[in-house]
Amino acid sequence: MSHNRSAIERTALQTLVTDIAARMAGESDRGHVADYIPELAKVPLNRFGLAIAPLDQPPVVAGDADIAFSIQSISKVFSLTLGLERLGATLWQRVGREPSGNAFNSIIQLEYERGVPRNPFINAGAIVLADVLVEGRDAETAIADILALVRELSGDSAIDSDSAVSSSEARTGARNRSLAHFMAAEGNMRAKVEDALSVYFGQCSVAMSCRQLALAGRFLAAGGSGEEVTIAHVTPERARRINALMMTCGCYDASGEVAYRIGLPCKSGVGGGVLAIVPGVASVAAWCPGLDEKGNSRLAMRALEDLAHGTGWSVFGARRRRDVED
Ligand code: GLU
Repeated sequence: MSHNRSAIERTALQTLVTDIAARMAGESDRGHVADYIPELAKVPLNRFGLAIAPLDQPPVVAGDADIAFSIQSISKVFSLTLGLERLGATLWQRVGREPSGNAFNSIIQLEYERGVPRNPFINAGAIVLADVLVEGRDAETAIADILALVRELSGDSAIDSDSAVSSSEARTGARNRSLAHFMAAEGNMRAKVEDALSVYFGQCSVAMSCRQLALAGRFLAAGGSGEEVTIAHVTPERARRINALMMTCGCYDASGEVAYRIGLPCKSGVGGGVLAIVPGVASVAAWCPGLDEKGNSRLAMRALEDLAHGTGWSVFGARRRRDVED
């Protein structure tokens, strides 16, 4: 991609984003809210937000872009960033970098692979990261570090973790507890299992709006700018690698389909949010709480596809605007 691939002009971008939000507002096939975490089931299905944070301009937003939602698995991008800062490449002895091809909370593969999760974005992998962040400290301090990171990246100190959601997760988290105890049995947990789980539930319950999330993701887009930029928390090389993991593992076992349709590194969460990175150009957040069968937001994904088509953004090469694809 050359540098002025981003040269979609601001007013055109605003028109595109406003059109997408209007289209999504009229959609009746919105998917289903995640109800296995009871607190998430309360979020109205008619919400939709979209925010684009270009590297060199203020955000362009539409719809419910300023309503906070539960970022859930998107938090795994931030905990991975901190975990890499803490352990560097030795982290990869405890978690892999391959797509799992299984559901995000699957336990079956973990047994075959002796307690080493396939990647940092499935639940088991994120619980290892939570363990890395809490080792030698208490859960509150580790959650405070994650909050400090997202507050710093988005420039908004009001961001917080929603305690109603984390209690709801803790009450219903039998499956995550099983994953954590199984990994402890295999020697892949260092701190107390309950402390790692508190961090994991606390990070998943961070509430952010599309605007805040898009701003927070810019450090990953900046890493792909190809210029000498100073990026907080990551080297350009590390940003590229986190983007690679988002592309291959960021959307559960629909990651291949997302690469095919959208062509950008994405990380989704069961709160209905998706963070997408346009390297060198912008960070994008879309949100609609209704999920599809794979656990990705039905309309946030559709909006990102429309946005990618409308702008030509893709990491796989130039695309003509409004190309027809099968
Ligand atoms: N807290 C959720 C869980 O552990 C996160 C799932 C997700 O967003 O993928 O099930």
